[in-house]
Amino acid sequence: MVPRLNTTGQKIACYNAIMSKAPASAFSFSRLAGAALGCMCGDALGMPVEGWSAAQIEQAHGRLDAMLPGRLPAGSYTDDSQMMIAILQTLAHRGGLDPAYLARRFLTLYEPIRGYGGRINSLMHRLAAGTPWNQVATDSWGNGGAMRVGVLGVFFAEDEEACMEAALAQCRITHTHPRGLAGAAAQALAVRLAAKLGATSEEPQAAQFVGYIATKIEAIDQHLAQRLRAMPPLLRGDEEAARADLTGTYACDVSAAEAVPPALGAFLAAESFEQAVVLAVGLGGDTDTIGAMTGAMAGAYWGLEALPDSWLDALENQPLGKDHVLEMCRHICDENC
Ligand SMILES: [Mg+2]
Repeated sequence: MVPRLNTTGQKIACYNAIMSKAPASAFSFSRLAGAALGCMCGDALGMPVEGWSAAQIEQAHGRLDAMLPGRLPAGSYTDDSQMMIAILQTLAHRGGLDPAYLARRFLTLYEPIRGYGGRINSLMHRLAAGTPWNQVATDSWGNGGAMRVGVLGVFFAEDEEACMEAALAQCRITHTHPRGLAGAAAQALAVRLAAKLGATSEEPQAAQFVGYIATKIEAIDQHLAQRLRAMPPLLRGDEEAARADLTGTYACDVSAAEAVPPALGAFLAAESFEQAVVLAVGLGGDTDTIGAMTGAMAGAYWGLEALPDSWLDALENQPLGKDHVLEMCRHICDENC
């Protein structure tokens, strides 16, 4: 059993008020599928430009808002979504977050072609060779625990402590550095809050939203909390200004501390699901992961209906693609919503 973490007793009053009166619809098929397919959309949109700078993306594609081919065919998802699908399968098969089962799903679904980092590749080899699932993680501060976790924010929409514990438990399978753990917790809590606000039709207030998440994860990693609090003021709807402000503040790289805050910023600066994800990918750097994280937040907030048809049509639909994800979400909701 994963030990409970002291998440501090500090709270942000305005959001607690919303949470305490939020209806159960924060955990709905639309928000769960929105978070799951939102993650896949951001991942697939960012896939062809992973590692590019914002300027390179703009020069080559202008406003990148269509699924393009890259190292994989257009609409393909990468490691981010593959690991998210493993989490969905765990929720569907086990009724909750069972980390031992999830580690097996990670290994069963693992396809190196999806672009896993070298550290995860060797971790998977150790799992395959029989090393116990709770002995393969390394002390990584990367964003890998955060990139896949969003769906847990919807699943645990009614239980903040369980949301945080589950986010940390799934992260510990691969990442044990406090910064990697804090990134996973921040992403799950951000998706959770997005789902809650979406259910009450409340507009997210950037400073309060960021302050709330930073306070919650401060006890795990103070640096990531500071990086969240460094969020520049964001004017909703102004993509160009938000891109300049976010890229001027964050490296947008593979570290949790430089990837989770700009992903949150892209969501908070946007007026639609499409704008959030386009903005996130346009930041450059770890584009597929930042796109995946923003997509999960935006999908939880605006719901499945807000995802552009053109993106859903383009999304990979192999046996473990779009339809499988929808089927898992439907099953999870039939059992739990
Ligand atoms: Mg990836």
